[in-house]
Amino acid sequence: MKLKRIPLIFLSLLLVLMPVFVSATDEITVEFDRVSERVLVVKSGKVYTDQIVALASKKGMVMIDTGIAPTLTEKYRKVIEREFGRNDFVYVINTHYHWDHTNGNQIFPEAVIISHETSPDRMRQFDQGRPNSVAQRRARITQWKNQLKGLEPDSERAQRIRDAIDSSEITCDDLENNYILTLPTLTFNDRLTLDMGDLTFNLLYFGEGLHTGDDIIIHCPEEKLLFTGDLFYKGSMSIAFSSQFDAPRWMSVMNEVLKDEDAVEWVYDCHNGRMSGEFISLWRDYLVELWNDLSAASEEGLDLVTVQDRFSYENKYSFISKSGIDPEQLKREHQNNVKYVWYRIKELQSAATVIGQVIAESGMDAALKKYAEIKDAPVEKYYFDEVEMNRLGYQLINQNKLKEAIEIFKMNVELYPETWNVYDSLGEGYMLLGEKELAIKYYEKSLEINPDNTNGVAMLERLKSEKEEL
Ligand SMILES: [Zn+2]
Repeated sequence: MKLKRIPLIFLSLLLVLMPVFVSATDEITVEFDRVSERVLVVKSGKVYTDQIVALASKKGMVMIDTGIAPTLTEKYRKVIEREFGRNDFVYVINTHYHWDHTNGNQIFPEAVIISHETSPDRMRQFDQGRPNSVAQRRARITQWKNQLKGLEPDSERAQRIRDAIDSSEITCDDLENNYILTLPTLTFNDRLTLDMGDLTFNLLYFGEGLHTGDDIIIHCPEEKLLFTGDLFYKGSMSIAFSSQFDAPRWMSVMNEVLKDEDAVEWVYDCHNGRMSGEFISLWRDYLVELWNDLSAASEEGLDLVTVQDRFSYENKYSFISKSGIDPEQLKREHQNNVKYVWYRIKELQSAATVIGQVIAESGMDAALKKYAEIKDAPVEKYYFDEVEMNRLGYQLINQNKLKEAIEIFKMNVELYPETWNVYDSLGEGYMLLGEKELAIKYYEKSLEINPDNTNGVAMLERLKSEKEEL
């Protein structure tokens, strides 16, 4: 809906009736949500949301994150100034370094920008690789446009893709023509408190392993709000995605924020609207219980198979269904959580991480030797994980290291020959390398195991039609 064509009288009526008001000036629609007298959420995108928050304190305006594109953030700033009737931006807080949270920093040049102490370096690194990121994102846009052709236009997936295309096109244009690297100038390691008179902002470093490693959370007790960047998502109870995470720190940070029962009413992330305080408390309770149970099991000398059975979703953890998430998804997430928390407690090293480091430092030959060595190593030292190995392969593809990626996918085929996805990934690797025969061979193998692999079907069709054209 574009309101610019609606007569002013209806517009003022809408302002009274609707909590969300639309003020688009072009194809991207900017919306806002007045959470309270002092808090305004401004965003665009219906499904894939770009969202920033403005808080009006006695001592000035405080911004949480600045969005994906300066052109959009300029529009957000106008809405904020109009709604509050002021423009005294004192602080901008970046929840982490990612471009979709910091690209709009330049729109608040008068403000002091705050982040974790490692964020400026990460942002500088992103800036150095900016042309590459833009090229990759533009390639992604082309892929999305192709995907859209096969989708029902009104489906949520199609809407999400259209949102992503719109914001990505603006972002790429901005990153090429309208972007000034604007780094945080006030950084902290552990915690920082801003006393803004009527509002307090408690900034806490969250710790390694859940999203980027420089994530902070911001608690505003007077408004009972918690801002968590990309750390949490209301559609998931995932705790860990590898064994490298700082659970003890997460627990102490969350216990501190949630120590009073009504300390947090709403939790704002940057893409998915808001979560309830109960959801985040449930996540914390789940983590604490899992950590304590598995620590005790480790002391007892149990093995992973026994642990997985004793602490299964059905036996002990079905209480996480209070999150409202589909139980089948919760079971899957719980299985992964148990596995990674166990590896973490046993202090096992991730083979994928070690091999990835060797590739970066010494190249593929050394990595192949390391792989053989790890395979023969005692089980209490390393662990192999299909998902982590697959992720490493795709990281290498992103770094344009196709041959290395294929070696990793081959290892995964050797390690997990029963799994369809390892063949799908190897097929993709060969496809990107231009080895069509091999790509077809592995996509076919993947489909043999899982005929429902729709990506595999689509890729095979494409490869075969390209072959006929040759
Ligand atoms: Zn992020």
